[in-house]
Amino acid sequence: MIDLRSDTVTRPTPAMRQAMAAAEVGDDVFGEDPETTLLEQEVAALLGHEAGLFTPSGSMANQLALRLLVGPGEELLADVQAHVVRAELGAAAVFSGITTRTWHSEHGRLVADAVTAIAEPNAGAYSVSTTAIAVENTHNFGGGTVQPVDEVRAVQAYAQEQDLGMHLDGARLWNAHVASGVPLAELASGFDTVSVCMSKGLGAPVGSVLVSTRERVAAARTWRKRYGGGMRQTGILAAGARYALHEQLDRLAEDHANARLLAAALDVDPATVDTNIVFAEVADPGAFVAAAAEQGVRLMQLGRTRVRLVTHLDVTRDDAERASEMLATLPR
Ligand SMILES: *Cc1c(COP(=O)(O)O)cnc(C)c1O
Repeated sequence: MIDLRSDTVTRPTPAMRQAMAAAEVGDDVFGEDPETTLLEQEVAALLGHEAGLFTPSGSMANQLALRLLVGPGEELLADVQAHVVRAELGAAAVFSGITTRTWHSEHGRLVADAVTAIAEPNAGAYSVSTTAIAVENTHNFGGGTVQPVDEVRAVQAYAQEQDLGMHLDGARLWNAHVASGVPLAELASGFDTVSVCMSKGLGAPVGSVLVSTRERVAAARTWRKRYGGGMRQTGILAAGARYALHEQLDRLAEDHANARLLAAALDVDPATVDTNIVFAEVADPGAFVAAAAEQGVRLMQLGRTRVRLVTHLDVTRDDAERASEMLATLPR
């Protein structure tokens, strides 16, 4: 089976397993797991922030950040297809009492005017006040879209002027970096909080890292424990994440090339394929996914007219070529 459902399906390579087995470990709730502390410091330094916090999932990293930036009864603005809005099961509302309003976009691509048009900072005693804005880079449901730096800067300038918090959901910031050549620290600058996933295309089995100021990360550490996310000998996981960072970052370019190949086979506009995610329009996604599965390729239906294909560490060039040839023969 060639599994194109998601870049979360990757399994640790033998070399990664070796690094994990060799990890020095301690109790991370006591702050005594050296490998985890190293990972947190390394990711924070790469992203140009003061401190980092290892979390079990990207959703937890996002939710810790949002609760630090937005008070109960206050408002977060996000893209209509943002992961924090569509795929975290209402966590911001359930855990933090946060209300959300969304802006529309083409393929998840940020346009600053769409954000500032709906923002309502300091709305007074009658309306809900906007207190933070979330940006997703790359944009998952938008199709792995890399955000234009000038639009990000324009939103940040507005946020600064209005004293609003800025969160970056950078689950796939690694892909944005490799595709655009923009340094990670530049992509992460101007945000109060940034989350990155180690377990997407990068290929670690588990975990995300939240970075921010020392003060915010200390608060996030307390909330992580309160949420039940205080973990013990996490060095085994952190070693996998560090291995992924050191050995499997540059190869994301191969995933991007494989995604372009798949897109061409399905007549998808290449301008909509920035990184490792392809959305194809088909008449009957359920039937298309079933037909592909019969031929050994797993895809995901996302929405009423779309299927999603995601390339990753466990999809070789040969896999991508074979999948492309087969998919091109299916009725759409
Ligand atoms: C995968 C993902 C996350 C985190 O998901 P978890 O499954 O909770 O690790 C967050 N944001 C985006 C954009 C994602 O694609």
